[in-house]
Amino acid sequence: MTDTLVAFDDVLASYDPALGLEVHVELNTNTKMFCGCPAVFGGEPNTQVCPTCLGLPGAMPVVNAKAIESAIRIGLALNCEIAEWCRFARKNYFYPDMPKNFQTSQYDEPIAFDGWMDVEVDGETFRVEIERAHMEEDTGKSLHVGGSTGRIHGADHSLVDYNRAGIPLIEIVTKPIQGAGEKAPAVARAYVSQLRDLIVALGVSEARMDQGNLRADVNLSLAPKGSGVLGTRTETKNVNSFRSVERAVRYEMQRHAGILDEGGSILQETRHWHEDTGITTSGREKSDAEDYRYFPEPDLVPVAPSREWVEQLRGTLPENPTQKRARLQADWGYTDLEMRDVIASGSIGLIEETVAAGATPQAARKWWLSELGRRANDAGVDITDLGVTPAQVAAVQALVDGGTLNDKLARQVFDGLLAGEGTPEEIVAARGLAIVSDDGALSAAVDNAIAANPDVADKIRDGKVAAAGALIGEVMKEMRGQADAGRVRELILEKLT
Ligand SMILES: [Zn+2]
Repeated sequence: MTDTLVAFDDVLASYDPALGLEVHVELNTNTKMFCGCPAVFGGEPNTQVCPTCLGLPGAMPVVNAKAIESAIRIGLALNCEIAEWCRFARKNYFYPDMPKNFQTSQYDEPIAFDGWMDVEVDGETFRVEIERAHMEEDTGKSLHVGGSTGRIHGADHSLVDYNRAGIPLIEIVTKPIQGAGEKAPAVARAYVSQLRDLIVALGVSEARMDQGNLRADVNLSLAPKGSGVLGTRTETKNVNSFRSVERAVRYEMQRHAGILDEGGSILQETRHWHEDTGITTSGREKSDAEDYRYFPEPDLVPVAPSREWVEQLRGTLPENPTQKRARLQADWGYTDLEMRDVIASGSIGLIEETVAAGATPQAARKWWLSELGRRANDAGVDITDLGVTPAQVAAVQALVDGGTLNDKLARQVFDGLLAGEGTPEEIVAARGLAIVSDDGALSAAVDNAIAANPDVADKIRDGKVAAAGALIGEVMKEMRGQADAGRVRELILEKLT
């Protein structure tokens, strides 16, 4: 069954979208949330486990103080109130990758609540209100073997790895975001992207979407235009790139409108995002009254952070993102339009690191926005996941500045970097990309160009120096773009004037 999609512009003529985003952030603490097992990524399955995170009877959890500290810092950075007293709660449900048969989470007493974050889209600021940020633990991971889709349906058997069970998570939930209109998909993307920048600046998580450190669930509903009410929402789970967040919102807007236009009603459900086809499919039905039988966790003491500690942690926060963007724009000398493009591309942090590695702001912007931005787009990945590092970009630019490469040859070095051929210097050597500035080789090529273009040479002899450009072009062609253009020009003028 295929969904009927309404053209995006037509959706907006009849409906107002409302967004909601739930982002899970996996903290980078050394140990798990309630036990001393290492919380590192990878490892042989079921080697980073103990009676507590396996949920064995009688095992007692203890809260990880570092995780509480990270949760409070995230809450403060999102302008939240920090609870003076809060408890963990058991969220009861059965799932094979959750050995306790409940997840230790927070319910009506989150550690942080009532915050906001300003996100910038096309030079316009949208205030996203944060309902809550609460602490919980991750589940283990199931692997369904034998089916074609990797889902349990059609699988021969399933394996489960509990290494991830008990890793600390912070779930950040927005209030409904209304009024974004046609910019709703871009606002969703900008929110997740800027939230990631904030998490990275706080140093509390690796925040890699491609490794699942940061996972976004996207809620969307449509309401009749101008009604001001909230429609029935769907929740698209585990969307794992900024680009996919934007696409999933757009798709759900078009799909909801297709159902509503035909007089149908939206089923409140979770949906799966399919990266390859760019569509969502039905997951499980979900109602507001879904009963997890939450109750306060009796094995853990309440968390009551002192105001002194909270204020001390406030002092450790990184620069406010809005002020930081303004400062960087001034430092880098970018126009408003240039800065807008940088923010939209999600490359502000990459440019910052490239400049720190020695490139000029202009060079850093040029590579990330034009060359690498295009390649990320072609590959369908976020620019942060492309696989080229800021240090490599700065190294390539240093080779351009030093006269070893021109921009055209530098592009071939990026080909080599993406193909994993080594460092920029190694790629230049292996592919023979360096510019030729040796006079012997250049002089011969210049003589050939003069001999092949006697009328152009005559013009230059008559004082029409501008005509040298045509001969430079000939030499470049003969030397496959690897001639030092400045030196070629000098040689032509030496020989003809
Ligand atoms: Zn453990």
